[in-house]
Amino acid sequence: MRKLTPLPVSAAPAKSTYLNAPSLNSPKDSEMDAINQLRLHLSMALQTSLVSQEILNTFANHCQALFGICGIAFTASDPGLNTRIGETAIHHCSFNLATTNENVGELCLYSRKRLSDTDLMLIEVAASCTVYPLNNALQYHNAIVKAHRDPLTSLGNRLAMNAAVRREVSRANRHDSPLSILMIDIDHFKSINDNHGHAAGDKVIASVAEVLKNTAREADNAFRYGGEEFVVLLDGTDAEGAAVAAERIRSSVAKIQPDNLQLHNAVTVSVGCATMHKDEPVNDLTERADSAMYLAKSGGRNCVRAA
Ligand code: GH3
Ligand code: MG
Ligand code: MG
Repeated sequence: MRKLTPLPVSAAPAKSTYLNAPSLNSPKDSEMDAINQLRLHLSMALQTSLVSQEILNTFANHCQALFGICGIAFTASDPGLNTRIGETAIHHCSFNLATTNENVGELCLYSRKRLSDTDLMLIEVAASCTVYPLNNALQYHNAIVKAHRDPLTSLGNRLAMNAAVRREVSRANRHDSPLSILMIDIDHFKSINDNHGHAAGDKVIASVAEVLKNTAREADNAFRYGGEEFVVLLDGTDAEGAAVAAERIRSSVAKIQPDNLQLHNAVTVSVGCATMHKDEPVNDLTERADSAMYLAKSGGRNCVRAA
């Protein structure tokens, strides 16, 4: 596998004709001309997106047109990504893409026919053009993920929750399927902080989050709404199912024993449930869940209420 750091951007003037096939009879000049054209056209095409899948699609299309490549595969570890476009074949070449500081990923190209030395040389140039666009796309993806995640619990934060609630509400309306939302608040949390310290409070928050991850159908549907408050979205779940899920959360939380904490009292939560009415505005739905949670508080805490 070749280790590839990007080649410097071509200083050659743009040409209107695309590089169709490398026919390099006098090696040096025509080879450099072909390389410069390739680098220029491909770099421009790959710069139009910050989405790795789109960049790889563009790259695969160009490589198919230029070299008869029938498929590509790209693997990155941060963020974990495993993309395959087209088909694999017996002939292939792989490149380890890296900037001067960072490993970007591994790119593999497949061909049904044997690749000539010239093709391989140009493919290497083409592959080098993907380094910065892919690195930018992966970093952008990481930044977006970070902006939507709560670092203490690794649940989605309020930003992620707002987007998810809007998405799920519109999906439920489109498919006429039920949607429920749970608002969960840890009881007397302030006294946990006061009696055991803020670090202990943090551990309790993280432990409750673990329960929620295991209860939501998808871990992505549990969110830290703020402080010691959480939201769970239950797609495809009616009021009856929501009450069952809420009770499961309540009873599971009451059993948790966060590591090394000798808490005076069991950790408990109050849970409010709301199930969406047809075409109900998003805010009304979340406000009903919030009101239900306050009913659970006034009903003695460590209980479930619906509104
Ligand atoms: P209730 O049963 O009525 O919900 O009472 P409570 O004590 O749980 O609620 P209250 O709103 O009085 O207190 C919540 C506390 O949560 C206050 C705040 O300092 C604490 N808190 C908010 N975010 C965090 C956090 O990230 N870590 C820790 N340890 N505490 C936090
Ligand atoms: Mg609260
Ligand atoms: Mg509370």
